[in-house]
Amino acid sequence: DEALSQTLNRASRSVRARRAVESFPLTRKVVDRFVPGETTADAVAAARRLVDTGREVTIDVLGEDVLDLDGARGMRDAYLSLVAALAEAGCAAGSDVSLKLSAMGQALPGGTTIATDHAAEIAEAAQAHGCTVTLDMEDHTLVDSTLEIGAALRASYPFVGNVLQTNLRRTPGDIADLDGTGARIRLVKGAYREPESVALQRKAEVDHAYERAIDALMASDCYPMIATHDPTMLDRAVERAREAGRDTGETARWEAQMLFGVRPELEQRMVDAGHRMRVYLPFGTDWYGYFMRRLAERPANVAFFLRALAHR
Ligand code: FAD
Repeated sequence: DEALSQTLNRASRSVRARRAVESFPLTRKVVDRFVPGETTADAVAAARRLVDTGREVTIDVLGEDVLDLDGARGMRDAYLSLVAALAEAGCAAGSDVSLKLSAMGQALPGGTTIATDHAAEIAEAAQAHGCTVTLDMEDHTLVDSTLEIGAALRASYPFVGNVLQTNLRRTPGDIADLDGTGARIRLVKGAYREPESVALQRKAEVDHAYERAIDALMASDCYPMIATHDPTMLDRAVERAREAGRDTGETARWEAQMLFGVRPELEQRMVDAGHRMRVYLPFGTDWYGYFMRRLAERPANVAFFLRALAHR
């Protein structure tokens, strides 16, 4: 599993592998399990279905690492259209959009300003419709910049959230730094393969760090978004939230989050127990990197992928 996971992680950044995977005739059918459509209309329809079953959503326009300013502006515009479409469909209030700063131009010359300005325009539109914004976290080289941009945006838009990854050794310190800001913080184990100098390598260590981070976030004044498909972690979050008096239902001061299509039955269990449950809903044509990271974090998904190809 480990070797396969490493290969898939490498493939997620390879142009040749990308061409090969994208050209498989049945790839799209399998991708549908994780990515419910290519257009804004598809995303809004999927959001509506989830909202109608008691879930909330955070929507991601797929795409990362834009190469020029036009690409970054195109991504900003895609988010502005998304917020407008959610508002028109009557499901913007309470929804969230997840964006990657690399897609907003973070790596271009002068990228910090470009990405901050684009994200601020999206936050302005989101605010007008009662929608929130979360900055996805990418690989470790972008963490400082992403946290700094998050803090700068919160000065005007306090609902802008950041993501922390428990595979990174720095995360306990980042939680301590964020305590006192009241920020929305999504906690994840981390989807990127990182060097040992900055990241824990063994799954057991990352899980242990996740437990400690749940405890720290629940005890802080931040709004914890516990993003995992791991029932042990969710049980711990429920317990710690109860101890911290964070409540359940609409007034809850924490939430669980899961990726679309990974464990719908576990989502339902959380909804039935009265917890806030938000589903991360990616859409668009640029699904390759996202899809490959989902295969890499659970190599059993590769078998699912191959079975679908065999049954065509
Ligand atoms: P794991 O220990 O990996 O998995 C626990 C169990 O969940 C597994 O046994 C399996 O049954 C199930 N499972 C997990 N993944 C899959 C899968 N792909 N397919 C099928 N079953 C699976 N990472 C980032 O680096 N940056 C982000 O901004 C980011 N945002 C995220 C937002 C949300 C809402 C979620 C849920 C995850 C996000 N991630 C992000 C990904 C995260 O870092 C992990 O890679 C991913 O969630 C898998 O870890 P896990 O906590 O589910 O636990």
